[in-house]
Amino acid sequence: MGSDGGVTTGRSGRWPNPAEAPAAEDLARCVHCGLCLTACPTYLVTGLEAESPRGRIQLARLVEEGRAELTAAVQGHWSRCLQCRACEAACPSGVSYGRIQEHARAQVQAAPPSGRTWLWVRRFVLRQVVARPRVLAAAAAPARRFAGWRFRGAAERVLPGRLGALARQLPANQGAPFHGLRGRSGAAAGEPVQLFTGCVMRELFGEVHRATVRVLERAGARVEATDAQRCCGALHAHEGDLEFARRLAKANITAFERTEGAVVVNSAGCGAALKEYPQLLAGEPGWQERAAAFAARVKDLSEWLAGRGMLPAGRLAARVAYQDACHLAHVQGIRKEPRALLRALDGCELVETEGADTCCGAAGLYGVVEPGMSAELRRRKAAAFAAARPDAVVTANPGCHLQYLGAVREAGLRAEVLHLAEALDRAWAGGDGR
Ligand code: SF4
Ligand code: SF4
Repeated sequence: MGSDGGVTTGRSGRWPNPAEAPAAEDLARCVHCGLCLTACPTYLVTGLEAESPRGRIQLARLVEEGRAELTAAVQGHWSRCLQCRACEAACPSGVSYGRIQEHARAQVQAAPPSGRTWLWVRRFVLRQVVARPRVLAAAAAPARRFAGWRFRGAAERVLPGRLGALARQLPANQGAPFHGLRGRSGAAAGEPVQLFTGCVMRELFGEVHRATVRVLERAGARVEATDAQRCCGALHAHEGDLEFARRLAKANITAFERTEGAVVVNSAGCGAALKEYPQLLAGEPGWQERAAAFAARVKDLSEWLAGRGMLPAGRLAARVAYQDACHLAHVQGIRKEPRALLRALDGCELVETEGADTCCGAAGLYGVVEPGMSAELRRRKAAAFAAARPDAVVTANPGCHLQYLGAVREAGLRAEVLHLAEALDRAWAGGDGR
């Protein structure tokens, strides 16, 4: 390695939670070619080997072989990984980097070398707030009220540091949370489609869900949204809480087994997690077939629309910068479909910005855990937007959406930030995109 990144080497290293250890065959797959390095946002910012995919895998190997201890320095290098998985898409050897990183973090959860309280707080929030719909609804209500408050601008100016930055990123146009489809007289006929509603999406992006339902119906779907579904568990798995992520996966599989049709997702992170349930439940007796059958039904919104023969015509007179969500482009391999849907709109000028498929720095809880790196990646997006001067930035993931609201402000632009569903909904309803 070009840098030891402050790692103590020796022969005392050992995985503290062997049942969840990174698989030796996953680690052995890396041949150190370095082809992933320039795809890695943290390597691009720091230039440090220990902040690259290859370096982080090597650290895991050293710990596995007992040649390094699981120190705070090792934890720090893993913690700064965005889990964006751009490295996986660039890797010619098929290294399952995301899986390695989740299992490495499970070791940190088992024996944190530093920041025990902070880890406990994150685990508590993810289990007891994010994954519990009623608790999350109560917690999100003040944020939603603040987003629509008329004195919001003045309040933002007096809020300190990171709190002020978070407040500035809250979406102002999302209205009420999404309460499901009961009592709604939607399309009675058409192909049955299940909407995956998620956790943060449901509470803070109600309008995106309502736009998604309208778009699906215009494309010929009969939309349903089972109340039995739960949070997808992506944030829990990324944190290394694999046991809880598996509980959520089983609950979701069971809930959707009682439904029919595709499970359509409008959040890239959730979609990637749902499609990877077979991997998450690989060691669970009796769940492989059920997980595989469920995953085969999961479709990103753009993927489902691209599979339809005829779509409504629409108009969106705007210069649009589409930004790939990492878990859509790198994990699900979906890049062409959203662009094709936008290009098909009359008046839509699609502009490609530098680093459109590089992580924006949102990455789940990353903006809270690693605010410095998150801010630097947002600043780079702001510079790309300032150069391209779009009327609208379009993306398909809630975390990215919030980060782009901040980037657009940093760029000094008046551009809107829209979910792809909102852009299509507006265009298909006859709006002109402004
Ligand atoms: S997941 Fe992203 S940040 Fe992490 S090592 Fe891979 S490319 Fe770098
Ligand atoms: S591209 Fe793949 S094999 Fe090469 S260094 Fe990166 S992770 Fe290892």
